[in-house]
Amino acid sequence: MKGINSEFCARVRQLRRDNGISQSELASAIGCKQSAISMFEKGDPTKLSDDAVERLAERFSLKIENYRSEKPALPARQAPMPSRGFCPNSACPTNKAYEVEGHVLYLPDRLRADPAGGKFCAFCGEVLERRCTNCGAPVHDGAICSFCASPYIVADC
Ligand SMILES: [Zn+2]
Ligand SMILES: [Zn+2]
Repeated sequence: MKGINSEFCARVRQLRRDNGISQSELASAIGCKQSAISMFEKGDPTKLSDDAVERLAERFSLKIENYRSEKPALPARQAPMPSRGFCPNSACPTNKAYEVEGHVLYLPDRLRADPAGGKFCAFCGEVLERRCTNCGAPVHDGAICSFCASPYIVADC
């Protein structure tokens, strides 16, 4: 049954045990498989049909209404934060300068700058960045943000 929460499942398990009923006994009493009861009790209410859940509720005097699951909140669509940051200091040896069409770009070596997923650059001590400083997208390998196309590191003027 959809729309009930795992608290109901836990409650059923507890009441079944309290009453000394085995999973297979309960299964045959409500007309389902023991394996379905087992999975249901582990917290998956969808393993039993609506009918079966209603029979369970009746048997243990539970009110299904009290165990309605709330609408799941939509998960925030945010890319996971990369574990390694880059050093925004253009002079830092972890950033490899190269030239493209007359512009100097810096390729961050995140493994060198941030070998352990820390807060500071392992070489120059600068505070590491984990997001594109222009658009805030999580940083990835490469010299240029794939979201806003701006370089991660700009040379000091
Ligand atoms: Zn650095
Ligand atoms: Zn960006």
